[in-house]
Amino acid sequence: MKITQIELFQAELPYSGGTYLLSGGRTYTSFDASIVRVTCDDGTQGWGESTPFGSTWIASHARGVRAGIEEIAPHLLGRDPRQCDRINDAMDEALTGHNHAKTAIDVACWDAFGKSVGLPVAELLGGSTGVGMAQMSSIHAGDPEEMRARIADHRARGYRSHSIKIGASEEEGGPSLDAERIAASLADFRPGEFFLVDVNNGLLPESVLRMLQLLPSGLDFTLEAPCATWRETMSLRKRCPYPIIIDELGVEDADIAFAAAGDVADGIGLKISKAGGLTRGRRHRDIARANGLTVSVQDTVGSEIAFAGIVHLGATVPPRMLRSVLNCADMVTLKTAEFDAVGKDGLVRPPAAPGLGITVDEKVLGAPISTWAL
Ligand SMILES: [Mg+2]
Repeated sequence: MKITQIELFQAELPYSGGTYLLSGGRTYTSFDASIVRVTCDDGTQGWGESTPFGSTWIASHARGVRAGIEEIAPHLLGRDPRQCDRINDAMDEALTGHNHAKTAIDVACWDAFGKSVGLPVAELLGGSTGVGMAQMSSIHAGDPEEMRARIADHRARGYRSHSIKIGASEEEGGPSLDAERIAASLADFRPGEFFLVDVNNGLLPESVLRMLQLLPSGLDFTLEAPCATWRETMSLRKRCPYPIIIDELGVEDADIAFAAAGDVADGIGLKISKAGGLTRGRRHRDIARANGLTVSVQDTVGSEIAFAGIVHLGATVPPRMLRSVLNCADMVTLKTAEFDAVGKDGLVRPPAAPGLGITVDEKVLGAPISTWAL
């Protein structure tokens, strides 16, 4: 089985919630998706997606995805997509770094692999646990009571996990506004729910410590990505009574290993396009498992194709470690594929169809913007 053609598509994914506000005054209204289709000599096809969260979240951006794919794609023609580690070696030989560019191709190879053997990708990644996974909301920073209302809306739609964004500058309201946001967001907390308070690397240890002192006692949450550097995070860690997980700092295998060896964090945000695809994502999963770190499986953002990758990898994480999965497709209004993974109970399970189990709507994608073929 050989890759004979790689096509690159582009789609604009409007944010479903208006304007998304992150720490540092970063705002987002839509996301630029790069979608890849690989076709093999036996007719098998696979799809993958990489959609950065704008160009100011981590060192990735949409035009970089497409430029990276342009570097990589010619080197993959003629290779067996089922040799996922060897595909990644070939991508690394063609281009150093740029995990976000490698993601769409890697995921498309897993989709083709699954279809070629008639198995869902989750089975190839180690096997689905069969346990329904909680969906995580993504609650952008805003007025405290308005954030509370958006959480209530997601709760009513079956979400059991919530990622609330904070990180107010001193001018915006500083630690007291962030403390109000957290208190309001957790005001209707129900047993069994899981809350992440995500700073997106936006605060210094001093600001976080001031903010934590303003909180009422007894709130159950985990602090995510409080600071921009390892030093700041390690300094805060010594003085913070809440569990800490890393997200933006955990990009490479070595970052996850360092977080564990240095006891910097209690868990990781495993975003597939940050890791560089499912091949690297499963390594992050395994390093986390070996070290007793919790995992939330996510992506930066993306449509149904990206969500499918999340669901299949998430399904292979032991339930005691898995906190939730991000339904990124619910964050955007453009639907690129049919993907039936969310049950009436609000829990998520991978479909039984081979590969990612998606049916891509090619009319939505239009013609490819680039094609490479043998
Ligand atoms: Mg995060």
